[in-house]
Amino acid sequence: MLSPFITTLPRATSTTPIISRSLLPLFSSKVLRFKHYQRRSSSYKQNRYQNPYQNQYTYKRFNNNHDHSNSTIWDSITDPANRKVLYFILGGGSLFYVTHLKEAPVSRRRRFIWIPRSIELMLGEYSYESILEETKQNILSQRHPVSRKVERIFAKIVEAAQRDPTVDKTLIKGLDWKIHVVDDPNAPPNAFVLPGGKVFVFSSILGICQNDDGIATVLSHEFAHQLARHTSESLSKAPFYIMVSMLLYAITGVQGINNLLTDGLLKMPASRQMETEADYIGLMVMSRACFNPSESVKVWQRMAAYEKKVMGQGASLEFLSTHPASERRIQNMTNWLGKANSLYEQSDCHAYSSYLGGLQDVFFNPPSSSGLF
Ligand SMILES: [Zn+2]
Repeated sequence: MLSPFITTLPRATSTTPIISRSLLPLFSSKVLRFKHYQRRSSSYKQNRYQNPYQNQYTYKRFNNNHDHSNSTIWDSITDPANRKVLYFILGGGSLFYVTHLKEAPVSRRRRFIWIPRSIELMLGEYSYESILEETKQNILSQRHPVSRKVERIFAKIVEAAQRDPTVDKTLIKGLDWKIHVVDDPNAPPNAFVLPGGKVFVFSSILGICQNDDGIATVLSHEFAHQLARHTSESLSKAPFYIMVSMLLYAITGVQGINNLLTDGLLKMPASRQMETEADYIGLMVMSRACFNPSESVKVWQRMAAYEKKVMGQGASLEFLSTHPASERRIQNMTNWLGKANSLYEQSDCHAYSSYLGGLQDVFFNPPSSSGLF
């Protein structure tokens, strides 16, 4: 029995506009080859006692008598009939790419972003409502000393980011900032900042942070993802990944290999690059905000030690799952400390020295204990 896909293909090609018909062989040479094989098999069956080649089907495109039974992707690409379309796609694509390159703050890395800010904010709002629904039972009141402390630390980080000349201020101003501390002893250590200014900090990460500088390390890293618009950067690459995956599927015919290749060669390195960038931006911003950058190295060391411990118990730390290897991260942080320290010294930090004191002992509970209280 022929598959539904094979039976509908001739109808689809006969009504497809010229431009689509020109593009079709780029992505469906495997399908056409299979169709050719199917037709030839049936003609063999019907004429097994006659000349087996008498009614053999040959796929003719644009009446050029060219047999595509062995056509490859490369044949389709080099076919002069497809060239104009290819040039158009490549030219238009390059122009679109170049005109949508935007510079990240602090690191000054140029990256491709075409997703509008409105979509990013919409996704942030959607995620916020869903996370709020899940965590609302355990959210500390805004007046709770821990909530107020986290809020003050975060406010200093935001204020410092505004003083950085490379930061796009429209990403900060006018947002409805909300800080939620989730006191759930069963939740793993985690923290994140959503597009649109909603911040979640799980109490179990505070034991790893241990002090204000430690909390600032985690918060500034998460805030850096938003300053650099990493959500939009990831979404902007999605169509490219789909195209690569389609191309790989046309070549290999195996879906599993495509996922392995696109994940291993494209998505994971891109994710690690954004994580490293968030580490760098976060470190510079926290230093500007008068938090001691040296503490960041210790925080990631404690995070790595904690991860080793929970992994030994068969669990994994979600917060670190997409992050670079701990050793690499600690090495990077150490390398950047010189620049971070000079920013720290240039900032008017004495004014803040007694601003946040008094509540540090609250954070010394280890994350393996039953929460903060
Ligand atoms: Zn991150």
